[in-house]
Amino acid sequence: MVSDVVIAGAGPNGLMLACELRLAGVRPVVLERLPELTTMNRANGLVGQVVRMLDRRGLYQPLAGESGPPQPMPAFFFGAVPMDLHTLDDNPFYLIRKWTGSGVRQDAGGAQGSRLWFRRRVRG
Ligand SMILES: Cc1cc2nc3c(=O)[nH]c(=O)nc-3n(C[C@H](O)[C@H](O)[C@H](O)COP(=O)(O)OP(=O)(O)OC[C@H]3O[C@@H](n4cnc5c(N)ncnc54)[C@H](O)[C@@H]3O)c2cc1C
Repeated sequence: MVSDVVIAGAGPNGLMLACELRLAGVRPVVLERLPELTTMNRANGLVGQVVRMLDRRGLYQPLAGESGPPQPMPAFFFGAVPMDLHTLDDNPFYLIRKWTGSGVRQDAGGAQGSRLWFRRRVRG
């Protein structure tokens, strides 16, 4: 079986990269050291350009539970620091407050037909 690219790790970055490569006609294989995709929630929300990237792939609405495209946040608290964002000409601050990482992973790993091998540790 031939693969063009080997991706180490089936985290969000590895799976999203596999999707993007598939869309470009490249055949990746994702090697994951764990026996299965982790269901541990390690993101309460997503901030920034990743939100627009997910939207380009049709994932924003199901993850955010919204019916329209992402809208920039007019204001946000970074820790205890209030940020007034609505005065920016090109406000880059997008947010998904609540999401399910496992949903992304299923879409990412399955829909694009990427090959995903578990119990494979990449060694340098
Ligand atoms: C408690 C917690 C809360 C967080 N909250 C947020 C949040 O609210 N918002 C946010 O944006 N981010 C949050 N993060 C950060 C976010 O989880 C990470 O930025 C994100 O998971 C990174 O994705 P990744 O694909 O780069 O790496 P990972 O998610 O770490 O995935 C890497 C994968 O590679 C596998 N792997 C590692 N080494 C090898 C190897 N040698 N061979 C094969 N497989 C390998 C691992 O088993 C793992 O599955 C949080 C993190 C934690 C721990």
